[in-house]
Amino acid sequence: MKRKVLISACLLGEFCRYDGATKTNNTVLEKFKDDEIIPFCPEAPVLGTPRQRISVIFKDKTYKLITDETNEDVTSAIEEQVDILLSGHPDLDMIVLKSKSPSCGLGTTPILNEDRKVLMYDDGIAALRLKEKYPNIKIVDEN
Ligand code: SF4
Repeated sequence: MKRKVLISACLLGEFCRYDGATKTNNTVLEKFKDDEIIPFCPEAPVLGTPRQRISVIFKDKTYKLITDETNEDVTSAIEEQVDILLSGHPDLDMIVLKSKSPSCGLGTTPILNEDRKVLMYDDGIAALRLKEKYPNIKIVDEN
């Protein structure tokens, strides 16, 4: 039986990155070629493509996803994309995310202070929500 694998859409060749580019990862494509793939990009439906960059800011003892140019808090909107995903796909077998992204990064996302200096590296906002909503699913990044 095919596994149902959620994969960050940019790894699959979708042109959904902030700059309109993709990050096609042939290793990922090959590894999961026999599985049912669910592409997922939490940022594109919220901010469009191309879009301004966003960053995770540690503020008020929590992580906020803030747009770099307009300083807009899009944390809830990105989290909501995971909730929408869950309602359509409650039965995933595995999740593969793009490293270093403010949304998808898994322990590799730069967390900035309010002066936008790197404090540490941690999970992105969508990755945190995915861990919360799919507590028993294996979650990895492309590396
Ligand atoms: S890393 Fe995540 S949010 Fe960024 S383009 Fe890829 S799928 Fe979309």
